Amino acid sequence: MEQTISDLAKKVEAGQRVTAAEALALYREAPTPLLGRLADGIRARKHPDGVVTYIIDRNVNYTNVCVARCSFCAFYRPVGSPDGYVLGFEELFRKIDETIALGGVQLLLQGGHNPDLPLQWYEDLFRAIKERYPTFKLHALSPPEVIHLSRLSQLPVPEIIRRLVAAGLDSIPGGGAEILVDRVRRLLHCYGKATADEWIDVMRHAHRAGLRTTATMMYGTVETDEERIEHLMRLRALQDETGGFTAFITWSYQPEHTELAGTEATGIDYLRTLAISRIVLDNFDNLQASWVTQGGKVGQLSLAYGANDMGSVMIEENVVRAAGASYCMDEAEIVRNIEDAGFAAMRRNMHYERLGGPIFRERAIPRMLELATARDEGDVSVPQELANYPARSRAGKQLRVIPR
Ligand code: SF4
Repeated sequence: MEQTISDLAKKVEAGQRVTAAEALALYREAPTPLLGRLADGIRARKHPDGVVTYIIDRNVNYTNVCVARCSFCAFYRPVGSPDGYVLGFEELFRKIDETIALGGVQLLLQGGHNPDLPLQWYEDLFRAIKERYPTFKLHALSPPEVIHLSRLSQLPVPEIIRRLVAAGLDSIPGGGAEILVDRVRRLLHCYGKATADEWIDVMRHAHRAGLRTTATMMYGTVETDEERIEHLMRLRALQDETGGFTAFITWSYQPEHTELAGTEATGIDYLRTLAISRIVLDNFDNLQASWVTQGGKVGQLSLAYGANDMGSVMIEENVVRAAGASYCMDEAEIVRNIEDAGFAAMRRNMHYERLGGPIFRERAIPRMLELATARDEGDVSVPQELANYPARSRAGKQLRVIPR
């Protein structure tokens, strides 16, 4: 007997797991308010105390030089580009100081696949950060960056993870997942940086090594609805196996200045995608709202479509901004959005341990009306310490000897 949408809704309300076919039927056919009600019911069951969390951290991109050249990316610069940059250790320390002044507890540190930054550079950086800021957390290097380092250094992924953890890595962000289906990855030119299996495998190794990680999905490029559901199924299966994911974040492709171009998915598409993610990912505790791509208002609506977390205050952002989205919310604004939606706001860390109420109510915090960037416009300085690390590319070798 064929299941109706109402049968499927009852199944979700009863707390039962949906199959891929059932998820697809709900995603395609359920009215948006019903999808929201189902997702909100799951959110309320998992988080009955009416608290919505957020983290104060800084989203830093240590380099924009990248050999991967994904067609959806407006952030990267090819090796040798005059706009290419690598941040120096001192610049990163300054960013950490500013983050701590705003109540921040970690860096979300990601960057391009720069052939001129060997593993030793990352190890030295992490050690230097931990020496200066022993309790500050490093949520760093998405799976494709780990794979890049594995290839560059000719060491297996578990060894890369072991060495990075020994140097100070605390957790791994779920970036670079895009859609975990190889047909899509080939079309987006991101199959080379990591196949779907390779991305999953890095996360499996990280979880086995005791690291917690997040998971993401960037939708709205060339994938079908079935492929979005397949992506969610793969994440659910790994979470069943390891339990290592703390949270899931989805956002829509931002097309401006990208090679792929195209149009951006609508806010309704975002809310439906968030809601079906909450329904499928029944073994994930936390879903974040992606206000940086959707804006504060849709971010706030996300709290009625399955999200229980407003993500990060962020402080800095470079990747999404390069593709045309530049929403900014400081802590006060995030808290206002949470409270206006009827929830209590609590600060958290990457492990979703609650750290307390809004920090701006405890001490004076400067208002932040614009997200910072990696570097000031026109700053093409080359960090001194780069001279200590051998470059692989011809352009990188030249930079080591000729000051810019
Ligand atoms: S998405 Fe990441 S890996 Fe792909 S081109 Fe951009 S910086 Fe490089």
